[in-house]
Amino acid sequence: MSVVAILSDIHANLPALEAVLGDADRLGCEKIWSLGDQVGYGGSPNKCLDLLRERDAVCVMGNHDAAVVNLEDVRWFNSNARAAVEWTRLNLTGENLEYLVGLPDSRVVHGHHLLVHGAPDNRSRYLLPGVDLFNEACLLEASGVAEMCFYGHTHLPMVSNQEKTWQGSAGMVDLSADGPYFINPGSVGQPRDNNPNAAWLLLDTVTRRIEFHRVAYDIERAESLIHAAGLPGRLAERLGCGQ
Ligand code: ZN
Repeated sequence: MSVVAILSDIHANLPALEAVLGDADRLGCEKIWSLGDQVGYGGSPNKCLDLLRERDAVCVMGNHDAAVVNLEDVRWFNSNARAAVEWTRLNLTGENLEYLVGLPDSRVVHGHHLLVHGAPDNRSRYLLPGVDLFNEACLLEASGVAEMCFYGHTHLPMVSNQEKTWQGSAGMVDLSADGPYFINPGSVGQPRDNNPNAAWLLLDTVTRRIEFHRVAYDIERAESLIHAAGLPGRLAERLGCGQ
């Protein structure tokens, strides 16, 4: 297994997830890694989790996933996010609730890739653009991983080392400079970089090649699923502008 599709912040957006999986299949990805917030905001939490489980995806727990299974306090969420967490909790199947509860906060894959949702030590901490990565690199090393940390949570595709940041809108980034690298694939289900297309990242674990991808999907269908679930309208409206 060497070509991996790295997804984050799917947020129960089934049309976006289906489009990304189609793109990843077409490009020969053999495995899915998902960096948390599989649910919350969108109208299809069961179908999204069913798809990830069917494909034996390697997933970690995001702050929305944690809130749904009462492992995170929803008082920190805004009212729309809280409404989505509460609706998701009531509508997930027992199997999918059990699956979410069992997700780890972080995972080390192949000994040199750390997968987390927010930051190496905390699923709810944001690694925003411009963050000083020295401490993050120390935390990464403490986890026994020296090369790459994959994270999500900000919904902004990006690659950084301690010297430089690359905004990852689309295309390839060369990882031959000094690491470690902190890599965010962007969000599948609720992009926030003014580009409404679903974001994901291809990684070749042998050659260390990474490629950012964007894929158009049926946004109207995602909006209808949100309305049909009775979720706040703002969660549908924001999809079309990528914010
Ligand atoms: Zn998120």
